[in-house]
Amino acid sequence: MPEHDLVVIGGGPGGYVAAIRAAQLGLDVACVEMETALGGTCLRVGCIPSKALLESSERFVAASKELARHGVKTADVKLDLPTMLKRKETVVSDLTKGVASLLKKNKVRRYLGRASLTGPGSIVVDNGEQSERLSARRIILATGSRSAELKGVKLDGDLVGTSTEALSYSNVPKTLVVIGAGYIGLEMAAVWSRLGARVIVLEYLDRILPGMDSELAAAALKLFKKQGLEFRLSSRVVSAKARGEKCVVEVEGADGIDCDRVLLAVGRVANTEGLGLDKAGVACDERGRVVVDERFATNVEGIYAIGDVIRGPMLAHKAEEEGMACVEGIVTGHGRVDYNAIPAIVYTHPEIASVGRSEDALKEAGIEFRRGVFHFRGNGRARALGETDGWVKVLADASTDRLLGVHIIGPHAGDLIAEAATAISFAASSEDLALCSHAHPTLCEALKEAALAVDGRAIHA
Ligand code: FAD
Ligand code: AMP
Repeated sequence: MPEHDLVVIGGGPGGYVAAIRAAQLGLDVACVEMETALGGTCLRVGCIPSKALLESSERFVAASKELARHGVKTADVKLDLPTMLKRKETVVSDLTKGVASLLKKNKVRRYLGRASLTGPGSIVVDNGEQSERLSARRIILATGSRSAELKGVKLDGDLVGTSTEALSYSNVPKTLVVIGAGYIGLEMAAVWSRLGARVIVLEYLDRILPGMDSELAAAALKLFKKQGLEFRLSSRVVSAKARGEKCVVEVEGADGIDCDRVLLAVGRVANTEGLGLDKAGVACDERGRVVVDERFATNVEGIYAIGDVIRGPMLAHKAEEEGMACVEGIVTGHGRVDYNAIPAIVYTHPEIASVGRSEDALKEAGIEFRRGVFHFRGNGRARALGETDGWVKVLADASTDRLLGVHIIGPHAGDLIAEAATAISFAASSEDLALCSHAHPTLCEALKEAALAVDGRAIHA
């Protein structure tokens, strides 16, 4: 029976990063992944394919509607969906192959099959034809998550599906109903709307992007509506199913909606089924997530868990940070994740990005803060790009000036937020941000100006 210092179950961004870091630190490491391609949800059916389609669909909109503004004439712009989908698949396969070669380079032994615990320190890997037993001094569970289901919504893997199907529709639906206005639903709504679908987003709450700063979400809602997306807020979907070639969606207290496809995006749930947690005695919480302490240790000695399968935001970089911190903790005794400095990004157009605490959370906690807001219309680079929608908001502690949160909606918000995340993790003040030189003309200047605005000192406002 092969014995390893560490066996990581799951080859997603949490698992493969943990495996590589452990190998760098000198452990004999194995990674078990049941899918042929490594990289997890993120690379196969999440972050990467969605961003590939967002990019392609944005270029389609630019070519068909926006280039003319720049004095570039295009004629007869046509969508070639098969090529767009094929490009996405190539991006994915290049990256998943890249992860395989990284594991090889770092001498991480890869097992292909579904792993389950048979007790503390022992695992069985089943590849459908045969099973193999492994023993491990330590185990990291990094099995990720899958789309949550909704009672009454009959997923059929085709017309009524999840984000996985929405990454590969073979034609543009005339009408697409998206259930849930979280970031996954909105990103896929953006893709298919840009490609020509009528998209109706149904959301149970009276707002979109739950959990994000509400001012940011309200600004996003306004811009998305301007782009043609339809929203029905405070709408609870009670059923959705395919009927012949069409689908019908029923909403509580409202008329039903006929459409061509339904995308269910009401959150994700931890993957613990069939993992043998009961055999090893690993505890889960009321939402089915593996319970861990600050070192990512479960209640069973030698078994750890990271990423989407535990509490916290379901984000790839959060999983990676936890993978690194967990392994560093095991080997060196030190490993920590600063959850306050984990950015969250919605890759729509414009992009939406947050780090730290929202204004709502600060108010609820009774923390006194000052805010500075700067609109991109006052930024020279945004004007040159022709992308003046949106703003940057900096929130700082009223007495110490320490940065508490930064929220951005606007061009390249997802890249701009990195500076704010760095500043927050270095415990910077808004004054620190305001005093740093930001090259001109860049979009980053909007962050500096918002930091200046905390003290009423913005120049271009
Ligand atoms: P996963 O990536 O889910 O990996 C877990 C792996 O474990 C899977 O490959 C699975 O096959 C394997 N596995 C499970 N059980 C077993 C078993 N018993 N034996 C062997 N293998 C097993 N996050 C971002 O940060 N940015 C984004 O832009 C973004 N976009 C997204 C878009 C979509 C459409 C979706 C669905 C998700 C997106 N996410 C994004 C979320 C991101 O994909 C997850 O947070 C991230 O993949 C979590 O990493 P993980 O390693 O915990 O789990
Ligand atoms: P997230 O968890 O960020 O992916 O977002 C999922 C969204 O789906 C949340 O905003 C939920 O309020 C929403 N949602 C959950 N159940 C329903 C339902 N039955 N009908 C419409 N929206 C829902």
